[in-house]
Amino acid sequence: MFNIILGGPPGSGKGTISDSIVKKYHLEHLSTGDLLRSEIKAGTELGKELESIIAAGQLVPDHKMIHLLEHYFDDLDPKCPGVILDGYPRTVEQAEALTLMMKRRKMKAVMIELYADEDVIIERLLNRGKTSGRADDNYPTIKKRMRVYHEVTMAVSEYYIKRHEYFMVNSNINPDCTFAQMQHILDPIVANAGKVPAPAPANPVK
Ligand code: ADP
Repeated sequence: MFNIILGGPPGSGKGTISDSIVKKYHLEHLSTGDLLRSEIKAGTELGKELESIIAAGQLVPDHKMIHLLEHYFDDLDPKCPGVILDGYPRTVEQAEALTLMMKRRKMKAVMIELYADEDVIIERLLNRGKTSGRADDNYPTIKKRMRVYHEVTMAVSEYYIKRHEYFMVNSNINPDCTFAQMQHILDPIVANAGKVPAPAPANPVK
């Protein structure tokens, strides 16, 4: 099983590009944000704990996320060709736990990070907020999420760069352009049954 760790700040287009990846490569899409929001909607005990954390733009504690991921992979159909991890890992602790879990399950993964300028991102999220109904798509919470991304989550990119399991894609322009870059990376990996070509390019296409 070959997995894609889809990184990038809030609003960089992870959800949109995931739909195109699913269509072409037939991978499962796991959005940890959607998973957490479904717990809130279902009114579970976990959901009640999560509501205020997500509305404040903070990260859910690592041990809860690591536990959720283990459960997700336990329940996954063994015939599944792979998973797009959209929004996971967001901390180095989650990344380390994921590496161990992949090793235990004899799986591989590569990180592809979406890059977009902050003004583009903020405009996208404010637009999405008009219809998404999401408690965190408002200006102060978007700024808070961006800060968390810079202060905590960007270290995850460093983690994968050091492992030579990292690519970056520019998602400033439009979804077609983003997906064209994505295919350029994924086609050879898929053709070589999950073998990541080295060295991985680390600079964004500006
Ligand atoms: P975005 O990428 O736009 O921030 P997501 O739907 O991926 O949106 O995440 C929404 C929120 O869910 C995050 O701000 C955070 O509170 C929580 N969340 C999602 N994934 C994780 C994770 N891996 N670790 C901790 N919190 C998470």
